[in-house]
Amino acid sequence: MSELNQLIDLDKKHHIHPASNPKEGATEGPSVLFSKGKGMYVTNEVDGKEYIDAMSMLWNVNIGHGNQEMAEAAKAQMDKIAYSSAFKGFTAEPTAKLAGKIAELAPGDLNAVFFTSGGSESNDTNLKLARFYWGLKGKPTKQNFIALDKAYHGVTVASQTATGIPAFHEFANFNVEGIHRAEAHLTGCEQGDTSHPDFEKSIRGIIEKEGADSIAGVILEPVQGAGGVNLPPEGYIKAVRDLCDEYNILMIADEVICGFGRTGEMFGVNHWDVVPDMMSVAKGISSGYAQLGGAIVNDEIKQTIQDYDAVLAHGFTYSGHPLSCAIALKNIEILEREKLVQNTKELEKEVIKGFTYLEEKYKHVANVRCIGLLGAIDLYEDYDQGKLFNADVKPANKVIDECFNRQMIIRACGAYNETVAFAPPLNSTKEDIQAIINVLDEALKAFETSIQKTV
Ligand code: PLP
Repeated sequence: MSELNQLIDLDKKHHIHPASNPKEGATEGPSVLFSKGKGMYVTNEVDGKEYIDAMSMLWNVNIGHGNQEMAEAAKAQMDKIAYSSAFKGFTAEPTAKLAGKIAELAPGDLNAVFFTSGGSESNDTNLKLARFYWGLKGKPTKQNFIALDKAYHGVTVASQTATGIPAFHEFANFNVEGIHRAEAHLTGCEQGDTSHPDFEKSIRGIIEKEGADSIAGVILEPVQGAGGVNLPPEGYIKAVRDLCDEYNILMIADEVICGFGRTGEMFGVNHWDVVPDMMSVAKGISSGYAQLGGAIVNDEIKQTIQDYDAVLAHGFTYSGHPLSCAIALKNIEILEREKLVQNTKELEKEVIKGFTYLEEKYKHVANVRCIGLLGAIDLYEDYDQGKLFNADVKPANKVIDECFNRQMIIRACGAYNETVAFAPPLNSTKEDIQAIINVLDEALKAFETSIQKTV
């Protein structure tokens, strides 16, 4: 058996893949085994071909693959010390430096961070810190949260409950109490329009029904990612901020995808000049070169917590991991030095131009959108009639398969599998964007041909 086949065999027998079909994994084995990456390209050892990574893998490899400086920064830190604990007040040079750098970059008075290993842990940490904070403030009844429909906040138990995609609640049926679900993006209601037919489903409607004394916080992504790349309507993020102020409720921004430049600003909330009370980060903080996340809090929360003179009973073995923090520092240095946030903002126009071309050319393509380098197209059977394809058509899966056959990785999402999402590395060029649009063009052509045969 070749070495490659041995790997495939080991994977088939012993690897339970996340967010994958286990039956396919155990019978067919992995169709991809990545062995190398450079910029927006990755090599698939299974077929020996180079693929465009139009998703930055899981919306996280913001500075692109194979960056040598990152490898050197990792080695330099490992040569000194790879791991040390942050429990009991211990720290390490890159950990302290990164905390300072985050305080410098984060908006407003978000000046302190609790380090985690990823996005789910960051959200769980913020939810726990929010309850802890209200307890310390003498408001122990403020225990519950409001999260949005179509949100994605991760898979640890609280984050998964806050996620607004039912499949995650149904898997293992293991959810926490006290997370209310609001309909996303009801701007008018959040601004105070109680006569709106959907008022009861809004964040404001839920606060008025449940009572602000029971609500600790509202958690939301500035731009929803896995739920379908849903851009908030103008005024929405600000309306939620004002609502949280009105009712003395913490605003928790999940910046796990948006943070560190993805939307053409360092953080998503910067687009609307909003400063949340808490912010969850991960992914782009280290561009995936090491596992890292953070729960960032404002001065008021930090001050309240630091007045607590006992052990904070929360922490991960890898909180403040020195190697991860050194990698994050180098990643941020590259983002800043190469002006990648600016580049992202400028490339947005190229993406919109390309998406608009696809929308005009293909009758099933609609609702194209992009902010920075976070974009999506929707696939409708008939957009003017508001008619989606039948669930069994799985249009986005078909398009991403066509892209994969043309050596490009892109992602399907949306409740009806109607959305094709896109999030290439932030150091992409105009030519890279054009290359992605060209593959999408071919893939959509093949999709429309196949649909004409079946629908
Ligand atoms: N929050 C958002 C907005 C995400 O997109 C994700 C992951 O995709 C998470 C949280 C969970 O992060 P992780 O998978 O690192 O736990």
